[in-house]
Amino acid sequence: MQSILEILNKTVAYFQSKGVPDAKLDAQLLLAHVMQCKRLELFLHFEDPVLPEKLDVFRELVRRRAKREPLQHILGTSEFFGITLNCDARALIPRPETEYLCELLVEKYLCKDVQAEFSVLELGVGTGAISLALKNHFPNAKIVGVDVSSKALELATENANKLNLDVEFLQSDWFENVSGKFDLIVSNPPYLSDSEVESAEPEVKDFDPLTALRSDDNGIADLRKILGQAPDYLNDNGLLACECGVNQPEILAEEFSAKYKKIESVNDMSQRSRYVFASV
Ligand code: GLN
Repeated sequence: MQSILEILNKTVAYFQSKGVPDAKLDAQLLLAHVMQCKRLELFLHFEDPVLPEKLDVFRELVRRRAKREPLQHILGTSEFFGITLNCDARALIPRPETEYLCELLVEKYLCKDVQAEFSVLELGVGTGAISLALKNHFPNAKIVGVDVSSKALELATENANKLNLDVEFLQSDWFENVSGKFDLIVSNPPYLSDSEVESAEPEVKDFDPLTALRSDDNGIADLRKILGQAPDYLNDNGLLACECGVNQPEILAEEFSAKYKKIESVNDMSQRSRYVFASV
């Protein structure tokens, strides 16, 4: 029987030959998943043999990952801002940039009191990541999340039930079926241009829903719709926070300056301008 270390080494080499990014980490995470242990526990048992029945299951997962199916789809879950979300082809895999948007909101833009009561509208919930992470952090917030995709709403509802978090999900093409006003509107809308989708990694291009990725007018059309209508749905002193493609925040801040009291572009972790924050 082969040892954990031997299997990992072979898998890493195979993944590298297939261009899998993070070959080592993914091999470890997949083997840990099959062995039903934590990734770090593998390192304590490098010499242990892997039973043939486990190896069969592992090989099937390796085959899928080598075809560039995203790790999160294979594992069926993704970690996001302190919660574990179910994750599959019904919605965009939550990204670290979006997690950072939640961090910015919690650390800088929203009330520090976790018991605060305020209302939130999320446009384009996907897996439900932002809405559920905010509800998990602010249990008294009243959160409504919309998506145009019924499949995404189905997945977001599954996640809300699994996590026992009370968020209202509603089918709507942006603001179409939304009524009322909110203290915060947050969105990670599609913002890639056709050429950006074309040059994206297979994990993105072949597995994330295209409607969650691309938008007309070089990627900026949906953001324009959101920034154009959000003031009608914000309470006084309300805030709009959107994730954007690189360099889109400046364009939007200039175009919509007359509609907001304050509008600013905000950098991501690698100091690229990636978010627009606007208040009324
Ligand atoms: N962040 C996605 C990507 O980089 C693009 C679409 C989105 O998140 N809204 O592939």
